[in-house]
Amino acid sequence: MARIVQKFGGTSVADLERIKIVAATVKRELDAGNQVCVVLSAMAGVTDQLVGYALEAGGSNNSPEYDAVIATGEQVTAGLLALCLQKMGIASRSWLGWQLPVHTDGMYGKARIMGIETAALEDALAKGEVPVMAGFQGLSPEGRIATLGRGGSDTSAVALAAALKADRCDIYTDVDGVYTTDPRIVAPAKKLDKITYEEMLEMASLGAKVLQTRAVELAMKTGQRLQVRSSYSDAPGTLVVDEDEIVEQELVSGIAYSRDEAKITLIQVADKPGVAASIFGSLADAGINVDMIVQNVSADGQATDMTFTVSTADLDRAVETVAAKKAELDYADLVSDANVVKISVIGVGMRSHAGIAQTMFQTLAEKGINIQVISTSEIKVSVLVAEEYTELALRALHTAYGLDAE
Ligand code: ASP
Ligand code: MG
Repeated sequence: MARIVQKFGGTSVADLERIKIVAATVKRELDAGNQVCVVLSAMAGVTDQLVGYALEAGGSNNSPEYDAVIATGEQVTAGLLALCLQKMGIASRSWLGWQLPVHTDGMYGKARIMGIETAALEDALAKGEVPVMAGFQGLSPEGRIATLGRGGSDTSAVALAAALKADRCDIYTDVDGVYTTDPRIVAPAKKLDKITYEEMLEMASLGAKVLQTRAVELAMKTGQRLQVRSSYSDAPGTLVVDEDEIVEQELVSGIAYSRDEAKITLIQVADKPGVAASIFGSLADAGINVDMIVQNVSADGQATDMTFTVSTADLDRAVETVAAKKAELDYADLVSDANVVKISVIGVGMRSHAGIAQTMFQTLAEKGINIQVISTSEIKVSVLVAEEYTELALRALHTAYGLDAE
């Protein structure tokens, strides 16, 4: 008998008909002789609506009342699924975050799970019951409801699976797995059977929004096996596992892209100690994340150009923040561009093989695509290019790395 945590996303519980399909999926796993614990999201669109109400009523997105409102979507779906299961003759009950409880650090709106008390769930499982836990929520140290950040029910599921020492955590969603790249853009994209935590983390943080990044981090830390699979079929999805479990590692596992990038260039900024610290220090103080950075060597030892990227949503504030320091930084001009896309090739195979970056640069050059900024990590090479080249670049790279399905 295996112990499985099943998590269903918003589209999988979008209405009562879908919730009945979820109940049938739970039953299939029970019929196979397994123990099942379920974690749910709110119905698709409901959390957005609740966020709208809370903000309109004057709640800030880091206040306990905001969380009291936006956590309710999951209470509805958890209760409804427990009812549907009961109607099928399966013993079940809903569990809210505070009832277990799921302990969090109390950072309202983006709380972290500190631990989950599982005694009640162990009792329920031992009796053959199916516990249905409302995802996305927990208890703050002050005894209030705290939510885990948007998309947080993935993290609820992974944390619960780890706490229950589950054999697998299945994340049911509206795609049937993780693909080598976006199949809506690149038709020959393939579903991956397996991907490592590290690669998944890069894919997730780079815009392949299948799993919340924090959930993948937690799975990696706890060694929790995850599977991303479709709620519409029982075909196997993509397993997210440790590197040792992948026997034949491809050099490149996937190509991700993010349109949520904007570029800022400071022209002829002083080339002296403290300049970067001042620019990036003030951006950090404003809570703006900087992603890629390049600084040129100055020809005359006096001044140089500095380019960096921020998310599109932060562009205006970033420009204001830097402009406020114009006197100190003494730059000639500030140019910004939101029409850029970051494209990244990802693969743990890069650690031991040279030439991956070269293939990327060569392929883009052959298509006449100019690279504006480059950054690398151990398992990733990213380039920033003009947004109009997104499709062309993704297709060419997908072919160049031999990822096209036959
Ligand atoms: N319902 C929450 C949200 O929309 C949590 C989740 O779906 O993961 O962000
Ligand atoms: Mg989600």
